[in-house]
Amino acid sequence: MVSKAQVKKVLSKAEQRCIASGSRLTEKRKKILEIMVSSAVPLSPYEVVDQYNEAAESKMPANSAYRILDFLVGENLAHKLASAQKYVACSHIACDHSHEVPQFLICSQCQNVQEVGIQAGLMKQLKDNVESTGYNMTSQQLEIQCLCPNCQ
Ligand SMILES: [Zn+2]
Ligand SMILES: [Zn+2]
Ligand SMILES: [Zn+2]
Repeated sequence: MVSKAQVKKVLSKAEQRCIASGSRLTEKRKKILEIMVSSAVPLSPYEVVDQYNEAAESKMPANSAYRILDFLVGENLAHKLASAQKYVACSHIACDHSHEVPQFLICSQCQNVQEVGIQAGLMKQLKDNVESTGYNMTSQQLEIQCLCPNCQ
């Protein structure tokens, strides 16, 4: 479980990063990011909007949540898991290093997700392997089905 202090730290870092990239983490965007950061599992846009509306005075329509999720993905504050059609908060928001191409280990039992860096050399090998078939890789994001240490 993520502590309140950690969530706060991540949100203020996210705010700074938006300012640095010339965008703005509005209250709504911040609240949505907070929901994602606090969640132990990836969330669908509908799950995000449900959680938002539980706490909010004015309800948010699902299409606004989609737009905000797109914004967060564009800022590298969240990632979309293509295999699950769900979203996770980036686990490197509070880090100072530059962001790598995100790779995900997804536990098929408890849905927990780990964001990991993959060595550039390994990625190149994979790319070469794909291209030797005549196909072009359109996304470098890997989503690997796993069993996490807790579920093994
Ligand atoms: Zn990330
Ligand atoms: Zn990091
Ligand atoms: Zn698990």
